[in-house]
Amino acid sequence: MTKRPLAILSAMPEEMTSLGGALDPAGDATIAGFHFRHGRIDGQPVVLAEAGVGKVAAGLVSSLLLDHFNCGAVIFSGVAGRLDDELAIGDIVIGDELIQHDYGALTGDSLKLYRPGIPPIGGPRDQPAFRLEPRLRQAVAEAIADLRLPAFAAGGAGANGAPDRAVRVRLGRILTGDQFINSVATRDRLVREFKGQAVEMEGAALAQVCERFGVPCLVVRCLSDRAGEDSHLDFAAFLAEAANLAAIVVRRLIPVVAAV
Ligand code: SAH
Repeated sequence: MTKRPLAILSAMPEEMTSLGGALDPAGDATIAGFHFRHGRIDGQPVVLAEAGVGKVAAGLVSSLLLDHFNCGAVIFSGVAGRLDDELAIGDIVIGDELIQHDYGALTGDSLKLYRPGIPPIGGPRDQPAFRLEPRLRQAVAEAIADLRLPAFAAGGAGANGAPDRAVRVRLGRILTGDQFINSVATRDRLVREFKGQAVEMEGAALAQVCERFGVPCLVVRCLSDRAGEDSHLDFAAFLAEAANLAAIVVRRLIPVVAAV
């Protein structure tokens, strides 16, 4: 296990409830109004923080976790909107590729994507996706292959299609942008343009920061809504259980990330 602590980050308090409860606390600190708790989870040194919603907040808090608290990797635990209709509310997507879907150059109605950090004007366009490092990807794929999770109770037939359907855990493409997607038209455009599995508001910002610091970044999201016209209602109804399920997966992956 790495000696440097692992950073565990969420956007909202609901997303940190379960991991916060698993923390054997050793102390805390407040910087710029953000609260950091350090201690151990299952013996592994960790620092927990809630960033609030959006890319700037995630970038700011992850920078502090990496620079001030010298964390060796960042894991995000939280919820996301569904993009892939093979998945259901309650399923888990782990970021294999993370894309900031709102970073680029707007010409007419279409956004030409650039890699965040590269000026979005002319020039060569690098790959816009931040990718999970192959060794960590392999270790995570092996760990999730035999992961058994509780059924998603709150979803029932409405969210999952079949009430007894087992929760799926997938590596996939996660889109990040500074909007809560509560729109069928925008969701359909994102699916058309990116073919992602999930959409959220922090993951690829975190990946950008982690790349600069040269540390791994693992984003674990449980689907709380379908990013469509009902997403505000589904999000509110399923947030607590989805957040808890993401945290169960994160807890299982803590030793995997620490060992890579
Ligand atoms: N607290 C607000 C909503 C938070 S925004 C409220 O109560 O209405 C949604 C949060 O969950 C973000 O942190 C984002 O990462 C994730 N998320 C869940 N569903 C999403 C969606 N449909 N679009 C974008 N982000 C989503």
